[in-house]
Amino acid sequence: MKKAKDIITSNSVVRAVMALAILLTLIAVALVVSRFFTKGTSFIDGEEKSLVLVESGDTLSGLLLAQGFTHNDVSQIASVLKKDAEITSLRADNDKIEFIRSGAEEPVSKIVVIPSPWRQVELTCNDSGEWQCKTIEIERDTRAVYRSGEILDGDSFYLAGMRAGIPAGILAEVYDLLAFEMDFERDVRAGQKFSVLYEENFSGGEKIDNGRVLAVEFEALRGNVKMYRFKKADGKSGYYDENGNGAIKSLKRTPINNARVTSSFSNSRKHPVLGYTRAHKGVDFRASTGTPIPAAGAGRVVARSYNRGHGNYVKIRHNGSYETLYAHMSRFAKGVVVGSTVKQGQTIGYVGSTGLSTGPHLHYEIIKDGKHVNPMTVKLPAISNLGSADKKKFIEYRKVLDEGMEKLAQHPDWFIQI
Ligand SMILES: [Zn+2]
Repeated sequence: MKKAKDIITSNSVVRAVMALAILLTLIAVALVVSRFFTKGTSFIDGEEKSLVLVESGDTLSGLLLAQGFTHNDVSQIASVLKKDAEITSLRADNDKIEFIRSGAEEPVSKIVVIPSPWRQVELTCNDSGEWQCKTIEIERDTRAVYRSGEILDGDSFYLAGMRAGIPAGILAEVYDLLAFEMDFERDVRAGQKFSVLYEENFSGGEKIDNGRVLAVEFEALRGNVKMYRFKKADGKSGYYDENGNGAIKSLKRTPINNARVTSSFSNSRKHPVLGYTRAHKGVDFRASTGTPIPAAGAGRVVARSYNRGHGNYVKIRHNGSYETLYAHMSRFAKGVVVGSTVKQGQTIGYVGSTGLSTGPHLHYEIIKDGKHVNPMTVKLPAISNLGSADKKKFIEYRKVLDEGMEKLAQHPDWFIQI
């Protein structure tokens, strides 16, 4: 029974991949034709295009004035962009602006602001001298690709991930997800395998960027960790474990990604500075001075202070029962004061070596109902679990995804069209 079902589902994956191959060929042909045509038209019109990449220090008015616009035009263009395209400022090393003229000596007749590969804002001037704008959403073709790897002797998850061909941005997201469930110091060993299913976005047959992480699997020491991205009936997406329980926990075990644990939680250890044995009520992560410290979870700052042991420290209350503490900071982040609320991942301060400390590191504590607990082993509550209707759908979706991944594992050059 199970076998028959497997075959059906695998065949449907094969069919999907084949259909997609045909579709892509058609798209590619259509694009070549349309490109040829566009190029031809612009040649006949004698359009002159110049593309400007916004650099640090550039302003919209500065760039427009350099193109020969008047101050009156500049303020009109700025207000149209703000009102109709919600663009109020330019982002250096990201935004591009294209200026189009009908000839080298002619004034600019069209401006195209390009804030992302998926969105273009076209500005044109009508006969009565008013600027208007039109937003064009670029259609994307999204494919799910699969990468898997193995931890080698002396490896880190990061190195193994890079070797498996997982892009750095995706790897950072995977790290963030796994950090809810894993202790990278103690759960990572040679021989462990991992896999990631993530999106690649294409436009015109060309890869433009990576999308979201759809599924992650890691053979951790304390059991397999699996997470799947799933969209609920209410339209909100989240990550869930294989049983449909929320994978995003209210707190992170390791606030700083990729930081090595240099001292674990213990009820008795010899203090490196004091020299005598006393409890170590938190976990130490080695990181260089100035490394941003993200809040382990959303909450309210209840202490931002200095004492002899902790140096500069911040304490956050997350809900009725959990608090976290971050010590030895070199400095606090702007706006982090007692009473302020913080989001999960928001920088609250920077690594340092203030207080009783032998070198730059983050000392991190989780306090549950007033009692210190081991951040690496404490069972943490999930932010959201699925309701029964969503859960049923999730389980079905997960099975399809698992089978798809099994196929992709055998054919790493295949992908699933989304
Ligand atoms: Zn410590």
